[in-house]
Amino acid sequence: MKIFKFGGASVKDAEGVRNVAGILSRYSGEQVLVVISAMGKMTNMLEDLVHAYFHHTGSAIAIMKQIREFHYQILSDLGEDSIQSINDVDNLLLELECLVENPNNLEDFDFVYDQIVCFGELISTRIVSNYLLAKQTRNQWIDARNFILTDNRYRDSKIDWAKTEHLISSRLKPLAEKNLVITQGFIGRDSVNATTTLGREGSDYSAAIFAYCLHAESVTIWKDVSGVMNADPRKFAFAQLIPELSYNDCIELAYYGASVIHPKTIQPLKARNIPLYVRSFIHPDEMGTTVSNQAKPLNMPCYIHKSPQMMVELSTRDFTFIVEDTLREIFAMLAENKVRCGIMQNSAISFKFVSDQNESRWSKLKVLFDNAGLVYEIKEHLELLTVYNGVQTKTDELTAGKKILMQQNSATTLHLVLSHQ
Ligand code: ADP
Ligand code: ASP
Ligand code: MG
Repeated sequence: MKIFKFGGASVKDAEGVRNVAGILSRYSGEQVLVVISAMGKMTNMLEDLVHAYFHHTGSAIAIMKQIREFHYQILSDLGEDSIQSINDVDNLLLELECLVENPNNLEDFDFVYDQIVCFGELISTRIVSNYLLAKQTRNQWIDARNFILTDNRYRDSKIDWAKTEHLISSRLKPLAEKNLVITQGFIGRDSVNATTTLGREGSDYSAAIFAYCLHAESVTIWKDVSGVMNADPRKFAFAQLIPELSYNDCIELAYYGASVIHPKTIQPLKARNIPLYVRSFIHPDEMGTTVSNQAKPLNMPCYIHKSPQMMVELSTRDFTFIVEDTLREIFAMLAENKVRCGIMQNSAISFKFVSDQNESRWSKLKVLFDNAGLVYEIKEHLELLTVYNGVQTKTDELTAGKKILMQQNSATTLHLVLSHQ
């Protein structure tokens, strides 16, 4: 069985939906399970809705209108082939509207977030599945939440592998062997049947979870680029395709922030030796990148640029050393608040870390640091440049006009934290 994943960019409009159907038609007669994300930037719009609803800003109705119009435009552009979807999309939008019309008495932002953002994937999969049916491509729409079981760490849920594998192999496999399956990425459910999500961009990971549990022959992630490149082509004109990549190199690139693949995607595939193909949905005849354990060693430096980043320097109010006990406390606070440290550096009296700039998490952390007797200094609007597999590479051109605030080298990797001078 093959697992395909189509991201938001591939289904951002009616043309995208038709293109996905075209790609699937090349595989008719084969066993395929398709994982699809929310259309275009819909998850960002739904995030805005969550903020408006949770913080009572009064703009929820206006955002809801945008969400409705965005999907209606796609349905209208699909014309007759979307007749069946109108009902389904209306029902889902109604459900969402009812949810955000009720006053919010809930305190857990992350819980509310998951109950709302999941609608992007639920709607997109309905539209694609119905479009395929209208084009006589038999398929089965499946609610991924019936199969992907997680804990209740909302917005960053961990998979319950034993339950998920049992459900997928006993209940989904027989279906997927007979029918083309269309399902959602990114979403799951917990033990009390609440919706959970796997972290932004988590649909790649969903595809890997299905592949692992179904012992799939391969996973193909269809992208708007030709494959995994040695830099983001939107930021670096010199970016070139990496035709073959080992699982380990791919994990490192994704972990440091090459946003072409979600970092958690590779582990389940590596565990079952399932190859990952990253290919272009614009040029589906091209081979793209193959990630496997057969790859030739990586022969070029790879550049990963992340911004905006923040650097936080912590020290103790009473000038005591920052040693094991304090570090344990700091890491517990970061983990509880789901803050990931990109790079870290410590000295006797300070601990510095760099992470994605995230206002909502930071306001909670400030209080915790204060209570723990920690003094903090924050620098925002920074960039993190990572060079993987080429620590000797010259970076002068890339850092020109910028100040290097922190530098870290290892045998394979160079990290530079940069600020505008
Ligand atoms: P999806 O539609 O699946 O969500 P994304 O937009 O998340 O796709 O990922 C594709 C984008 O990733 C590309 O358009 C490209 O700008 C970016 N990207 C970042 N790093 C790389 C890289 N190393 N190779 C290829 N693309 C990259
Ligand atoms: N729709 C989700 C997001 O935009 C998941 C994904 O696209 O992978 O983060
Ligand atoms: Mg994406």
